Amino acid sequence: MSDLTAILKDLIAAHGPLPLSTYMAECLFHPAHGYYATRDPLGASGDFITAPEISQMFGELIGLSLAQTWLDQGAPDYFVLAELGPGRGTLMADALRATRAVPGFIDAAEIWLIETSPALTEVQRTTLRDHTARWTTTVTDLPNAPVLMIANEFFDALPIRQFQRTGPGWSERVIGLENDRLAFGLSPPSQIPALDSRLGDTRDGDVVEICQSAAPIMAEIGTRIETHGGGALIIDYGDWHSLGDTLQALRGHAKANPLDTPGACDLTAHVDFEALANNTPCAHSRLTPQGVFLERLGITTRAQALAATLTGTPLDRHVAAHRRLTHRQEMGTLFKVLGLYPNRSSPPPGLEP
Ligand code: SAH
Repeated sequence: MSDLTAILKDLIAAHGPLPLSTYMAECLFHPAHGYYATRDPLGASGDFITAPEISQMFGELIGLSLAQTWLDQGAPDYFVLAELGPGRGTLMADALRATRAVPGFIDAAEIWLIETSPALTEVQRTTLRDHTARWTTTVTDLPNAPVLMIANEFFDALPIRQFQRTGPGWSERVIGLENDRLAFGLSPPSQIPALDSRLGDTRDGDVVEICQSAAPIMAEIGTRIETHGGGALIIDYGDWHSLGDTLQALRGHAKANPLDTPGACDLTAHVDFEALANNTPCAHSRLTPQGVFLERLGITTRAQALAATLTGTPLDRHVAAHRRLTHRQEMGTLFKVLGLYPNRSSPPPGLEP
């Protein structure tokens, strides 16, 4: 039995069955045994691969979209360029390389990485060693200034709670013990005011998810954008208004049982973009498929320019990466982009209505 399994069993013995959010938080962020706290899970040798690790084009185009937002808002001579959950720092490095071509942009940027994992912070420090960057664990620490923010596959890593509809009430899906093994169960049904709005679009047995830790983060980012200017690009898999059980465990690029090997597999849930948008005082764009967003930013032109420099296997890989990021049957539709911007401005490039 792993150390974390023993810790979880002790918690259940002391307090009763755990909400899924507590289970996820322990599995992902326990300081000694948590998934993110202890390792670099990204890339071919890790458990999953993200868009910036698939191709440099992803970070380059995001950087250029943010630089255009900066120009459109009068090119302020000081702003915060921030990334939430930067993984290996690859997206930020690619964005910074591409935006060297935009006069004044990098000189005006104060780079901030918001990261809770000590292991990944170390990787980011190495990736970004040629830049002056600052690290923090929370968006509230950012200076009061215009902010251009990126969050790719960040919100899917935040712990969720799940509730199953039972008549006018809801039973929470909890994790308890069955024959001394971790097992899902249901709490007795109760009325939950926060879910009143879901009584209209659900039936008995339906599962809904809520991500409570996303709301204060969105409120903080949105308030800063509305007050000081800037914008945000939030990219993740999910949809507008979620329904059903979307909890997923991944280990070695394969699906796993979320209750097996706690702390050793990645746990994620689809992002409910409507819930994110409802928690921000600034304006938000239409939810746009990643493929459409990248095409509008010119990924095909960039892909052709890069292809002209490649032959053989690297060329094959590059063509496959372009397809993977944009194609309908790959990440192009599953992943969506939500832009945030001040009510007085227009949506970020690539997210026009
Ligand atoms: N954006 C990166 C990594 C995605 S994985 C990419 O696209 O490759 C999720 C990232 O979010 C990891 O860096 C993880 O350590 C970080 N993270 C998760 N929860 C966090 C939190 N509450 N605050 C800050 N970072 C967090």
